[in-house]
Amino acid sequence: MTVSGAAAKSTRDPGRTQRVVIVGGGTAGWMTASYLAAAFGDRIDVTVVESATVGTIGVGEATFSDIRHFFEFLRLEESEWMPACNATYKLAVRFENWREPGHHFYHPFEQMASVDGFPLSDWWLRYPTTSRFDKDCFVMASLCDAERSPRYLDGSLVDQGFVEQTRDETSARSTIAEYQGAQIPYAYHFEAHLLAKFLTGYSTQRGVKHVVDNVVDVALDDQGFISHVRTAEHGEIAGDLFVDCTGFRALLLNKALGEPFVSYQDTLPNDSAVALQVPLDMESKPLRPCTTATAQDAGWIWTIPLISRIGTGYVYASDYATPEEAERVLREFVGPETADVPANHIRMRIGRSQRSWVKNCVAVGLSSGFVEPLESTGIFFIHHAIEQMVKYFPSGLGDDLLREQYNRSITHVMDGVREFLCLHYRGAKRVDNQYWKDTKTRVIPDALAERIEIWQHKVPDSESIYPYYHGLPPYSYNCILLGTGGIDVRHSPAVELADERAALAEFERIRVKAEKLVQELPTQNEYFAAMRANQ
Ligand code: FAD
Repeated sequence: MTVSGAAAKSTRDPGRTQRVVIVGGGTAGWMTASYLAAAFGDRIDVTVVESATVGTIGVGEATFSDIRHFFEFLRLEESEWMPACNATYKLAVRFENWREPGHHFYHPFEQMASVDGFPLSDWWLRYPTTSRFDKDCFVMASLCDAERSPRYLDGSLVDQGFVEQTRDETSARSTIAEYQGAQIPYAYHFEAHLLAKFLTGYSTQRGVKHVVDNVVDVALDDQGFISHVRTAEHGEIAGDLFVDCTGFRALLLNKALGEPFVSYQDTLPNDSAVALQVPLDMESKPLRPCTTATAQDAGWIWTIPLISRIGTGYVYASDYATPEEAERVLREFVGPETADVPANHIRMRIGRSQRSWVKNCVAVGLSSGFVEPLESTGIFFIHHAIEQMVKYFPSGLGDDLLREQYNRSITHVMDGVREFLCLHYRGAKRVDNQYWKDTKTRVIPDALAERIEIWQHKVPDSESIYPYYHGLPPYSYNCILLGTGGIDVRHSPAVELADERAALAEFERIRVKAEKLVQELPTQNEYFAAMRANQ
């Protein structure tokens, strides 16, 4: 691809953003197109240019709980899109072997209760009713262990009550009000290419133009704005706003506009992945309602159950394993059924563009930035970016300020997730080889180092994680700290002095509720078998 620069005199009308050109048709491209179609209808023209020869990344199947807002915004019911994308429910991330072999814990999409002003984890450290903090503090850990669906067989949903919390009304109300928007009880697993296909249909039915062609040149005007892209077979496509969804290539933002990339590699060294698509026999394999992240010698393996297959892959650091070793480990992990399945080897670019929105080009998806997929945040970043893009849509008035605010918001969220992921590795108790030993001495962001010192005396709360709580509330930090087990965390001194009866009653309420739901709810296999039988 070439860049033809600075020759043509600008013909831009800064007061109008009517023509949006999205380059790239992966998850980012089609999520952006469908969101813009839902937000603005035919008041703007949207065109997606997608290459037939350059593939999509081919992974990205697990989501974060805010994804439900995306489908709500598109006014899509689960029954409309889930079967088309072989989607399943996800209640949590299950971490295996991060502490020691055989150990597991969950990071669920469920608020942690607060009792008399202290998070339940603080009470648990003082009064551990069992050895499992996740089961004592969350209903969902039991549902995941028992492989339950969040829906009853009649399709009704168990989400009431996950947010109804504690007798400490004031604290519960403010916690819920603060986070209810971001944290709801479940997310999804789906086949990424089927979602892109579904959203292609959704978008084109709402007027989005679809051009299948390669962008071969990006033309800049004399002010450095993009005036048009040139395609191999469809000529020039002009626009007011260009959305770079070209994946790790970042053809518009990094290549054409030269925006620098800020690497996170020093703090997050996993830079490679190998993925397999494993055939699934729904009769014999459990559809766990969670993404599993199993720690390995040079990283971790993801397991994502879909209706059609299991998506799996090994995320590893190339300083510690070769692609051949990683593929061998992955195939051994999965078993003989993958012998004929081709492996997809991926080199990951870890970090973010210094600014994601420059002049009239905004990067969304891998072109904007990426941290490794440990907490399934890639699609969350896309959703967050397009929500903000609509919020800060340029109007010609104060565009520089809008862009600045947008860029601050993207930086804030990505740096926050980077910090959260670093905590997983620093916190992991295992030190059984060089890879895991190095996770204890590797540089971490200064702010995280300071927070860890505080958290050793007082478990994370909204003050001590500020300003990084967008999408990542304090309970998420609590889960990782208590689950990974390598950092010594003590309960607050004040918990010693407070009356523990309400907290113990809360542990009992969670135990009883979990037991009841495990009895009432079907497994995911039973639920989806029934759904398919009814189709
Ligand atoms: P891509 O999928 O790479 O799409 C790029 C598009 O640009 C393609 O359509 C391509 O044809 C087009 N293109 C490129 N060049 C041109 C050109 N010259 N002209 C026209 N078109 C062009 N996220 C999650 O949320 N959950 C996960 O579990 C998860 N797992 C992941 C695992 C791994 C190993 C990796 C690397 C990522 C993972 N992600 C995950 C991130 C997720 O895959 C991406 O965020 C998501 O797929 C979006 O990708 P994209 O659309 O930005 O890029």
